[in-house]
Amino acid sequence: MSDIDRIRAEVCALHAELLRWGLVTWTSGNVSARVPGEELLVIKPSGVSYDDLTPETMIVTDLDGKVVAGDRSPSSDTAAHAYVYRAMPEVGGVVHTHSPYATAWAARGEAIPCAITAMGDEFGDDIPVGPFALIGDDSIGQGIVATLRGHRSPAVLMRQHGVFTIGGSARAAVKAAVMCEDVARTMHLARQLGPVERLPQPDIDRLHDRYQNVYGQPAVDENPQGVEA
Ligand SMILES: [Zn+2]
Repeated sequence: MSDIDRIRAEVCALHAELLRWGLVTWTSGNVSARVPGEELLVIKPSGVSYDDLTPETMIVTDLDGKVVAGDRSPSSDTAAHAYVYRAMPEVGGVVHTHSPYATAWAARGEAIPCAITAMGDEFGDDIPVGPFALIGDDSIGQGIVATLRGHRSPAVLMRQHGVFTIGGSARAAVKAAVMCEDVARTMHLARQLGPVERLPQPDIDRLHDRYQNVYGQPAVDENPQGVEA
């Protein structure tokens, strides 16, 4: 199996995770992966039902979003994904969802405060808000990169839109999207009960360092649970 075929199969399978964790509705949401060593990415086709996604329907584009292989149009968010890969060579996967709790924070333009240990672990900071940007050019990609470059969080809440996450791999970006929705829901519930206090910065630093460098199996990405297990 070629590298591209393997990545097509992986990206297709990861879309099932968006459904499984309740992050997407109808055809919204998309996962992409960089093709290592090539100026290419693999992404979902536009407007195709999740039930009809197969590895063969995944679209290969160059890093300007131009289709290189595939029968359909790529996701309408391809330009944003491609911009991130061009600007951040360390990124191997990008995910976009309108998952409801996280998007509720985005609708308010409010960062999710780092007030629980799970957030310290995975995000190492508040989950930040990126600028409002319309689809159609590089604006969304620029907003993602401007917010996440140099930030510990792999997730950004694009104002009045939704969530974009990045990772060293597509699986890591999907995990960040799942965790973002989970903590967005928990922090929403906490706020209904009263004011919420951010963790002290030294504790956030220790949590993040332990989780990123010590915790888990030697190859963290190969541990799909990867959380408190
Ligand atoms: Zn969107």
